[in-house]
Amino acid sequence: MVDDELTRRRLLAMGVVLPLGLVACGDDDSGSPAALVKTPSCDDGDETPEQTEGPYFIPGSPRRRNLRAGGLPGRALLVTGRVLSPDCRPRRRALLDFWQADGEGEYDNAGTGGRGHQYTDAQGRFRLATVLPGLYPGRTRHIHVKVQPRGGEVLTTQLYFPREARNRRDGIFDAALLMRVSGRRARYDFVV
Ligand code: FE
Repeated sequence: MVDDELTRRRLLAMGVVLPLGLVACGDDDSGSPAALVKTPSCDDGDETPEQTEGPYFIPGSPRRRNLRAGGLPGRALLVTGRVLSPDCRPRRRALLDFWQADGEGEYDNAGTGGRGHQYTDAQGRFRLATVLPGLYPGRTRHIHVKVQPRGGEVLTTQLYFPREARNRRDGIFDAALLMRVSGRRARYDFVV
């Protein structure tokens, strides 16, 4: 008992905040901590899985939240979500660097089409106005991203779309990286 109390005090002194119970962080809209989410949630300690970078990443993307402003062909898609720590706290000023194929499945490897980085706001939120990436040979539909919390390591991963026939045949696909998609909106919370 004394040991427990000492441990708790020591952790508090170190700035570690012990969880006060379940905090819903997988879904802004549900209002219910018991809501089931398919994506890894911060309350079970699962961090967002890493994925291969693939051949088309180019460093030095422009800072922008709207990839369509550059004339990216394809059907409009809005991707939103948050970057959270494993203990469910928003990661403010986390860097997200997105790159993807256009609506025809083509990467712009000569310019900056389909590429852009941004930082999360004080609530850890990001917002990407883009297009539905087209399919290209050998892969299911996906968006590449690098996520880096301030002072932390870079996570390279990919986001996927539900109800895609190719998900089952893509050896890289991971269901833990499925976005929740409704119409032209998609949502994902990263845990890093
Ligand atoms: Fe790709």
